[in-house]
Amino acid sequence: MKVRLSRRLFKSIHESAYNVNMPDGGTLPARGTNTGALELFRTFRIFGLTVRLTVVQKQYVRSLFDSIARRYDLLNHLLSGGVDTYWRRRAINHLRPVAGGRILDVATGTADFAIAAARLAPREVVGVDIADEMLALGRKKLAARGLSGIVSLRNGEAESLPFAEGSFDAAIVAFGVRNFERLDGGLAEMRRVLRPGGKLVVLEFSRPRRFPFRQIYLFYFLNVIPLIGRLLSGNSEAYAYLPASVMVFPEGDEFLALLISAGFTRTHAERLTFGIASIYTAEK
Ligand code: SAM
Repeated sequence: MKVRLSRRLFKSIHESAYNVNMPDGGTLPARGTNTGALELFRTFRIFGLTVRLTVVQKQYVRSLFDSIARRYDLLNHLLSGGVDTYWRRRAINHLRPVAGGRILDVATGTADFAIAAARLAPREVVGVDIADEMLALGRKKLAARGLSGIVSLRNGEAESLPFAEGSFDAAIVAFGVRNFERLDGGLAEMRRVLRPGGKLVVLEFSRPRRFPFRQIYLFYFLNVIPLIGRLLSGNSEAYAYLPASVMVFPEGDEFLALLISAGFTRTHAERLTFGIASIYTAEK
């Protein structure tokens, strides 16, 4: 599916809002912005007055992932029924032509996508993430699999990648872009560090459109995931944030439009498993 950029499409880029009720009585509203970024607010009622605080997203997301890091892999596989592993493998298959090159995995977390990319026998995979606890667990996994020589992990922000222009053959992100504080900035940075002709592969949650999958999915996503997440991770906020961030994310054509406005070409989207997740590919 190719997208022709139109004014109407740009205008329609996300302005939806979504509220999560927090256990302390506050709410965590999330709103998609016209740059595709997520804005988070917390509102509280104090003495009859409504107080609204803007959440500093990067700090919020970092501490959220640091706090659930120990349970992240287990919950990932459990909540997705193991299908996340298949999605990552399928996304990596889009990179066959760059086997032997340098691959950058942005928002690498515990390195599952970087590990999947290592199967292509690249010269090197570099993973960056803002959450040190996630990276520490990723390094243990790499050592256990004997991959520490090929895959290295370092702290770094998607919006200001610590790499030279044109230094990677491919850039990949799994379940990371919807968390970026500035989605347009993150996409522009990934394009900057790619060599001309280099490939971008993004795997991200999307929302099924058709009856009855949409209804089943929304029930599971909005009710079951926050409950299981809270019970197993002990962090109710983290698993309330997950559906909020997915509900406001600019998916499908809207995400392709953001890729085009960041300067990417040959953009393509593929919906997986009734549209629960999507793979986006593009080139510099
Ligand atoms: N890619 C991994 C995977 O497939 O399981 C981890 C995905 S996890 C849902 C999202 C990760 O994005 C977290 O580890 C978080 O710290 C990271 N992250 C969020 N915002 C980021 C940013 N602006 N720059 C770099 N990493 C970021």
